[in-house]
Amino acid sequence: MPTLHVSNITWHPSLSQRERNAFRKQQGFTIWFTGLSASGKSTIATALEQHLLHLGFAAYRLDGDNVRFGLNKDLGFSESDRNENIRRIAEVGTPQSARRQLYTDVVHQVAKLFADSSTIALTSFISPYRSDRKVARELHQSAGQSGGDAPIPFIEVFVDIPVEVAEKRDPKGLYKKARAGEIKEFTGISAPYEEPEHPEIRIRSDQLSVEESVVQIVGYLEAQGLLKLNRYDTAS
Ligand code: ADP
Repeated sequence: MPTLHVSNITWHPSLSQRERNAFRKQQGFTIWFTGLSASGKSTIATALEQHLLHLGFAAYRLDGDNVRFGLNKDLGFSESDRNENIRRIAEVGTPQSARRQLYTDVVHQVAKLFADSSTIALTSFISPYRSDRKVARELHQSAGQSGGDAPIPFIEVFVDIPVEVAEKRDPKGLYKKARAGEIKEFTGISAPYEEPEHPEIRIRSDQLSVEESVVQIVGYLEAQGLLKLNRYDTAS
């Protein structure tokens, strides 16, 4: 077992985001996927996460499965629990709901913290309202305003698909339930989806394969200088 000497430990009282990025040899930022249910957000985000990990970048995906925040933590995977899960998610999805606001606030904060820790945070939530996505973007922009750090880049990826195609895919049977009236206020059917006006990236997921979508995103990130594929080549 290696011995750790006290003299090997160096530290100073605070660490800036720039210093963390330099130590980790990567910049943290958030890739915010938005789009209809079944548009392919989770599928593309998962493929991208794996590709980034293969390239040696720290990346982590936040989605409804790992971000429960207490809302559904008491639920298991029985049929009744699954139905209750959907009921609560639908509840959270209503514009007036204070719980939806709490949920999105927490997601915004967590994504920002991951990005601040020099990790590439990927989120895959429908996030149907422009105002919510604006709040997430502003939170990242304001990161630089307090302590001399730079704003955290926020990349909105609109996974664009005609609702009819999404409805045909329907991998979780949610559209079917929405049509049957079992889910109230379902985005794209009985609740609005507000398309991004100026997303950094727009992916037509009915026209591109998952692999092509990943290539499109990685190409953008490289062009923006956010992914330095040869970052270990030069000593810094
Ligand atoms: P979302 O996270 O947007 O709700 P999912 O990724 O869970 O969507 O589901 C999308 C479904 O569409 C999956 O079953 C996936 O295999 C399928 N699919 C087919 N073609 C594509 C594509 N080009 N990009 C993304 N998903 C696709």
